Amino acid sequence: MKNGLTKIRFLVVWLFLLTISLALPAQDLSHNGPIRRTVWTMLLSPKYLTMIILGLVALILLKKGLMKGGLKAVMLFLAIFFFGVAANLPIPFFSKYAMHPSPICAVAKAILYGFGTPMIATALVILLLSLIGPRLFCGWVCPVGALQELVFMLRSQLKLPQLRIPYRLSNRVRTSIMLIFIFFSTTAIIYTLLDNGEKIGVSLYDYFNAFHGFEWLGLTGILPLLPLLISVIVGLFVYRPYCHLICPIGLLTHWLEPLALFRINLKKECCNNCQTCITASPCQATAEIVKGSIIRPDCFACGDCLKCCHSDSFEVTCR
Ligand code: SF4
Ligand code: SF4
Repeated sequence: MKNGLTKIRFLVVWLFLLTISLALPAQDLSHNGPIRRTVWTMLLSPKYLTMIILGLVALILLKKGLMKGGLKAVMLFLAIFFFGVAANLPIPFFSKYAMHPSPICAVAKAILYGFGTPMIATALVILLLSLIGPRLFCGWVCPVGALQELVFMLRSQLKLPQLRIPYRLSNRVRTSIMLIFIFFSTTAIIYTLLDNGEKIGVSLYDYFNAFHGFEWLGLTGILPLLPLLISVIVGLFVYRPYCHLICPIGLLTHWLEPLALFRINLKKECCNNCQTCITASPCQATAEIVKGSIIRPDCFACGDCLKCCHSDSFEVTCR
């Protein structure tokens, strides 16, 4: 019964997403020519297709218990390469992989300036992968998340201590930032003046958008690099600090976690309650999975709990 209800809920979310995206009109993307693209033609472009494929491959590897060691590092490198590095290379094909709009801009700037086609396409891919789950976009596609995950893997090799920020605190911090952003956006307290004197609201997240750290060619100074740089340094001690404390996508995809079709679950009959997973996992979600809680702290589908359990108690299952 519970399973049936979950599937109906999932179907309703999907039908809603399909309806809004099909209802969206095509939009002019060029000032020089009639380049008109719908959300669907954008979703079939190399960048978005690569995102979807990477997310689905990650899901298969997680389900088969293969997401560990070298293969995990390769998957993370691919996400960093395609969506962080590639657009900076002097190869025209890779310019199509530029993270414009960044996931944060796709949400924040859409609230300020309206939902343009590229923003909707980016938001839809994030939604799509997060609804298939578990956290497939944040875990395996986002370059900022992938870089923090790699740095955290390095921490284990360097045997550095891990600082665990309580979930309640980190969730309150990123929720507060989101609320302040909404307040500033609706009141346009932070704005810029155009040449014609018009006031345009500015997103609070623009001041600490870690995705700008990958835009080497467009850099005007060290400031845009800082959020990513600080996240990498802090990430040597804290698991995914940017995702847990700041990123609005981290908050939104966390809300979507209970809706995802696939999730990390515990095979109760295999678990001998040794608690190895709770100390070996980087997150605070594992303890709640063991307890059987429906609402859990963030799980980024890193696969560590699947790997560390000696009795293979964790699995990625369709609920
Ligand atoms: S929370 Fe933000 S920075 Fe972290 S992986 Fe998700 S989109 Fe990327
Ligand atoms: S170790 Fe934590 S973050 Fe990683 S897959 Fe397991 S529950 Fe999710």
